[in-house]
Amino acid sequence: MSILITEECINCDACVDECPATAIVSADDSPIDDPEFTYVKPEKCIECVDCSVPKCFDVCPTPGAIVWDMPYISEFDEYYMQRHNEGIYKIRVHKKKGIFSPINQTRPFREVIDMQDRLNYKPLEF
Ligand code: SF4
Ligand code: SF4
Repeated sequence: MSILITEECINCDACVDECPATAIVSADDSPIDDPEFTYVKPEKCIECVDCSVPKCFDVCPTPGAIVWDMPYISEFDEYYMQRHNEGIYKIRVHKKKGIFSPINQTRPFREVIDMQDRLNYKPLEF
């Protein structure tokens, strides 16, 4: 990641089956406590780097529902672990390999996206 789904989401789940990384789950399947929205697993999202437009964004009918988050790389390990501990994300824990935090599982990301835009959770636009 990654991208983040916000409170603007209307839970239509149009994006769930479009994700090539099976990173998106409906609110009913979300790993976080008391989920209200469709959820993106940051440890799986590859930002659709091989596509012109992220697949989730391409089908989403709701402006502002999908925003940028930080790249899922070791530099942001602390950032994601903090959000995991706060319950914003629930990063997968493997019995033997441990938690799939950025330092253990780097994911591809779009280098063209400005870091300030990511920090500001800017809605995707293409
Ligand atoms: S950007 Fe691509 S990989 Fe990431 S959640 Fe959206 S569809 Fe899945
Ligand atoms: S397509 Fe957009 S509005 Fe629908 S569930 Fe996904 S993020 Fe939410």
